[in-house]
Amino acid sequence: MNLCDVKTIKHIMSVFDIKFRKEFGQNFLINRSVVEDIADNCADSVETSILEIGPGIGPLTTELALRYKSVVALEIDHGLISVLKYTLGEFTNVTVINEDVMKANLDDLLKPYFDAGRVSVCANLPYYITTPILMKLLECGLPFDYITIMIQSEVADRLCASAGSGDYGAITAVLSYYGVAEKLFTVSAGNFMPAPKVNSTVVRIKLHKNKPYVPKDEKALFRTIKGAFEQRRKTLPNALAAAFGELSKEEITDAIVSCGHKPDIRGEKLGIAEFVQLSDKLYELVKNKEN
Ligand code: SAM
Repeated sequence: MNLCDVKTIKHIMSVFDIKFRKEFGQNFLINRSVVEDIADNCADSVETSILEIGPGIGPLTTELALRYKSVVALEIDHGLISVLKYTLGEFTNVTVINEDVMKANLDDLLKPYFDAGRVSVCANLPYYITTPILMKLLECGLPFDYITIMIQSEVADRLCASAGSGDYGAITAVLSYYGVAEKLFTVSAGNFMPAPKVNSTVVRIKLHKNKPYVPKDEKALFRTIKGAFEQRRKTLPNALAAAFGELSKEEITDAIVSCGHKPDIRGEKLGIAEFVQLSDKLYELVKNKEN
């Protein structure tokens, strides 16, 4: 069964009496070679287990199941579960769970399926909730090798931007704390049904096994990054003065200068190493005030 064939998709949807649900970001892939390319690139060992988010009617799930050890797919739309039982019925290495990834406790949910072996994530993500899902995957602490996601091209540009460029933002800095992102290829809107208004890009994130930059306090790091970008037009001392109300602007400026930066630097110039260094200074200052 070719689950990317438009006639097949329409036939399945009519037999199961389902419609595309816009509120769940349902844009199904209709180009099999794109699906194969994503599946080929999402892990480097066939012994990998894959977590898929949003299998839809199962085109990517099928290609993943053919290539890797096992697949666990979380699908929010209850209406698709009986479809997936039918389209993926031949695979003994696939488990479909009717679950909203944002509500799931991933650790508990996935424990029974993934042993101590390798696990990666692969997904054609719904646009409406791309960043929250990505943040959840990064923060959940599960030891994924790779997170390979198809997302809106504009978001992909942000994730993969270099420090100092216009696309660089808080999400870029936070992501580079967890791993390294690379754009694999772009997929035009015509490869989906219904066609979205924008193009998509497949991004692969290789997660650090050992993070190269470790802050004294993660919360302080995220507070520093968020603060630096929340007031993007302001210089870093001004932006961080708003985020760290318990410190004076002079204290913040001194901390920035002691890290080797000019006092009028803007947050978007700082890479993750510089953010970690600065957040450690701010953390110490705040801690000293509390004592
Ligand atoms: N993988 C299929 C494909 O490539 O054709 C479908 C991709 S479609 C862009 C996104 C899928 O994610 C849909 O099946 C949608 O129902 C599902 N989805 C949306 N929000 C979700 C959530 N919070 N948790 C789990 N699945 C979700």
